[in-house]
Amino acid sequence: MIKPVPRVLEIKKDILAKNDEGAKRNRGVFADRDVVALNFVSSPGAGKTSLLVKTITDIKEKFSITVLEGDQSTSNDARRIAETGVDVTQINTVSACHLDASMIEKALHDIDLSPVDFLFIENVGNLVCPASYDLGELMKIALVSVTEGDDKPEKYPKMFRMSQVLLITKTDLLPHVDFDVKKCIAHARIANPDIKAITLSSKTGVGLDEWYSFLTSLRNKK
Ligand code: MG
Ligand code: ZN
Repeated sequence: MIKPVPRVLEIKKDILAKNDEGAKRNRGVFADRDVVALNFVSSPGAGKTSLLVKTITDIKEKFSITVLEGDQSTSNDARRIAETGVDVTQINTVSACHLDASMIEKALHDIDLSPVDFLFIENVGNLVCPASYDLGELMKIALVSVTEGDDKPEKYPKMFRMSQVLLITKTDLLPHVDFDVKKCIAHARIANPDIKAITLSSKTGVGLDEWYSFLTSLRNKK
């Protein structure tokens, strides 16, 4: 009698255990170089790249920033980041729908982290498996845009349980969509009672001050 399911679960467990070892090494490198590494996660189109471009443009005089861009096949987002003038490294995951710790480890070989204050990692747009892959980051930052359903945290609780911050993005579009900000935050807090929530618009700039204060506090804590 073949029982395929337990075997698949074992393989997945091995993969994740190996990933956790790599994440631990990455975390050690970030600690040695005094780098704040943030892992940005969301579904496709939530505005990760737009937020990073805006954030980098506004704080790059104050902080040294480098970016790792995860995408299955293109360099479109990396090109947008490169226009801000900061260093960006593209990681094409090909068939993988998430970044893993070994991809980050490999990319770090070519980056001088010593002057870097912030390493922004833009994960592949996907609310499922990036939740399971620790990259060695200080924290995951989850984005939900108001053009998506406000039930994203209810549908994908693990991602919000694993994230320390929820950014509700594209709030300039709120008048045109049915998106209940309070409901979205409430569901994220069922998954993770301590999650910090910030609502913002990269387009109008509303909420960005709070986001930048939060980022600055991460540096000051160190
Ligand atoms: Mg993007
Ligand atoms: Zn995946």
